[in-house]
Amino acid sequence: MNKTLFQFFHWYYSPEGDLWNHAKDMAPGLAALGVTDVWLPPAYKSADGVHEPGYAVYDLYDLGEFNQKGTVRTRYGTKAEYIECIRVIKEQGMGVIADIVLNHKMGGDEKEKVPVQNVNDDNRLEVISEQHTVEAHTKFTFPGRKGKYSKFKWDWHCFTGICEDGTISAIINEYGHGSWEPLLEQENGNFDYLMGDDIEFRNPLVREELKQWGVWYVETTGVTGFRLDAVKHISPAFFPEWLDHLRNHFKHDFFTIGEYWRDHSGPLLDYQEATGHRIQLFDVPLHFNFYRASLEGRDYDMRSIFDNSLVRDNPFEAITFVDNHDTQPLQSLESTVDYWFKPHAYAIIMLREAGTPCVFYPAVFEAKYTDHRNGEEIYIELNKIPVVEPMIKMRRDLCYGIQGEYFDDPNIVGWTKQGEDDKLYSGLAVLLSNADDGDKWMGMGRKNAGRQLYDICGGRPELVTLDENGEGRFFVNAGSVSVWVDNRYHID
Ligand code: CA
Repeated sequence: MNKTLFQFFHWYYSPEGDLWNHAKDMAPGLAALGVTDVWLPPAYKSADGVHEPGYAVYDLYDLGEFNQKGTVRTRYGTKAEYIECIRVIKEQGMGVIADIVLNHKMGGDEKEKVPVQNVNDDNRLEVISEQHTVEAHTKFTFPGRKGKYSKFKWDWHCFTGICEDGTISAIINEYGHGSWEPLLEQENGNFDYLMGDDIEFRNPLVREELKQWGVWYVETTGVTGFRLDAVKHISPAFFPEWLDHLRNHFKHDFFTIGEYWRDHSGPLLDYQEATGHRIQLFDVPLHFNFYRASLEGRDYDMRSIFDNSLVRDNPFEAITFVDNHDTQPLQSLESTVDYWFKPHAYAIIMLREAGTPCVFYPAVFEAKYTDHRNGEEIYIELNKIPVVEPMIKMRRDLCYGIQGEYFDDPNIVGWTKQGEDDKLYSGLAVLLSNADDGDKWMGMGRKNAGRQLYDICGGRPELVTLDENGEGRFFVNAGSVSVWVDNRYHID
């Protein structure tokens, strides 16, 4: 069965603590649609309590169990609710992907005197101060947890850098002596530091603690896979060691996706090579192609939609997506694919052979929220994309067999899937237009001769009957998507 991931949250999901219960309640419906794996947001206690989505990690061992940062539960519920949610999702035959945030920690409990040197924000390799001592919140003792599960206390030897009053400082510890950890790219000189207290993976005690935590986390929760946050900012040496430890302990692999935010496949391929192909990556360049195509309208050449994408260059290790919690309106990496083009983008990720698609929560459940841009309060409505649920089903039922490519026109492109004999009604033909209405002669293979197809999206009234070669003329409306499926296949 084709794999389909579902990102079950967005940045502004309610802080009222009901997400774990909501995901549990929706699990049977998602499984019936054809979702195979559910990605849940960070489950551990945030430095901001319930007031941010979970990426400001405070205590990895507090899954909504201890009174810390002003709350027992997390933004999404209690530990018991989280574990029950995972149990129900798995009971429905789906996997659960945990969001793993190990680049940094925030909300330290105590101040320490820390030896540092300041660096240039734009070139972190350039030191712009003498070595000096500052007082910083780099001591994590987790007083609310009182040593349960782990007695490890973090201090400044566990971190490479901090940021105080907008100035980034490298910590002069015994592992790097003020240097950042080596990365594959030279963005900002060295982009090890992203936010908070940046974790020092050269410290063997840190690596050991995180491995023990990983075992505890999997045993406690039963998750089946990981989404690794901010891997661009973490030494590529770390996650192979961490993942191998878990594989050796549990005697099986974990489905693993990394978030490496770069608009070109080259650095993504380099990272996958450096980490021994243990980690699939989100296809960020494809997202940006969708984004640009949605802004440029008919001026965008649809034949270039896969340019520089990971799904083109490494289809078996590419997780394709249209939008996520960082690209949604008013967020840090805002680059939201315009609404008119979302059906096109979802057709491309859901109904083709290459890549594993990840559906974003608002596409099925919508989202409404307010936040600020340049001091002005803005109300956002992300409407449901009506074709997405049918596409999840069609991916499960129909998207099989040999693929025929018709990316031969700047404004109207299409493809076909011939189907497989053992999958009832399988096979389909898709046409996308970013300009005028039109048609295209496409083939589904001789075995489909005489087959009748209709546009399940409802835009076109014709019935297409394939000729003796399994070919036919398919139609699409202006700026629209048509998906032609067997006349006998219907979605309730
Ligand atoms: Ca880092």
